[in-house]
Amino acid sequence: MPDKPKIAMYWCASCGGCEESVVDLAEDILFVLDNVDIIFWPVALDFKKSDVEKYKDVEIVASLINGAIRSTEQEEMVRLLRKKSKVIIAYGACAQLGGIPALANEFQKEEILRYVYEEAPSAVNPDKKRPQAQFKDDDRETELPELWDTVRTLEQVIDVDYYLPGCPPSSKLLKEAVLVLLSGILPSKGTVLAPDLALCEECPRKDTKPTDLSFTEFKRPNMHNIDPEKCILSQGFICIGPATRSGCGAMCIEGNMPCTGCYGPTSRVKDQGAKILSSITSNISGKTEKEIDAILEGIPDPVGTFYRYGMAGSLLRKKVDF
Ligand code: SF4
Ligand code: SF4
Repeated sequence: MPDKPKIAMYWCASCGGCEESVVDLAEDILFVLDNVDIIFWPVALDFKKSDVEKYKDVEIVASLINGAIRSTEQEEMVRLLRKKSKVIIAYGACAQLGGIPALANEFQKEEILRYVYEEAPSAVNPDKKRPQAQFKDDDRETELPELWDTVRTLEQVIDVDYYLPGCPPSSKLLKEAVLVLLSGILPSKGTVLAPDLALCEECPRKDTKPTDLSFTEFKRPNMHNIDPEKCILSQGFICIGPATRSGCGAMCIEGNMPCTGCYGPTSRVKDQGAKILSSITSNISGKTEKEIDAILEGIPDPVGTFYRYGMAGSLLRKKVDF
């Protein structure tokens, strides 16, 4: 019997949700296991880096890598997987666009370390000690990965073949991606494996979205009730659906919550945050600067709202201090 195709899965700067989405395949995971050999999956199976090193170059059919890239260890591992794999799939918003971890690009590394190890209310560290990349104590010697100053997307570090969007990708998209890999009929390099349509196109409330929007205030879902029948954006809640790729089945809208943009932009949008920002702000009804400022106060965290998943992959990429 011929060997089954070898698949690797790896996580970098990740919350673990993408790994869980594999378990969300439920009984379909049996289909996956029947058809592929998972040869590396640190979160679930006790394989080591040395096991990957033993494979010939491009012997692994596909590596699915989730999480953004921020450390020397993550760089080393993704470069190794790139060398050993025919296909690299950036799995989930963090690998594709930087995701939530890339919001750290609003700060310098020193600011983050100082806050975490010295200033946070929960920090008890009178000697202001921090983890060191090299550490020696008696006969023990330890080396830790170095943290980079900037969070990067996977494609900013290695060549990527395909992207599976979402935070995390839906199990439907994952299953379809596995079927594509097994078929051997691969889409063109660089394809995002989800429909190239805005979420509004598949939204169950699309018929209630007015052609002309006019915002007199912005509301937050934790402070106001959302009418479950009407377009959420038209009610003054920021919904990123117009600038977001579909494929999730409008799960958040079904749960009566606005889209936060985790599927990233469609192919026609260069910068998802800029797209929705320009579309929303051009529909603010205020006439004077004062009126406009008062309306914008309803969006207290513009970066976290418009670039929640895409900071590293955006045109802004990182805050620079001069
Ligand atoms: S894409 Fe979402 S679920 Fe996946 S690792 Fe990033 S934050 Fe977690
Ligand atoms: S803006 Fe949001 S709620 Fe309105 S149609 Fe688009 S996805 Fe649906």
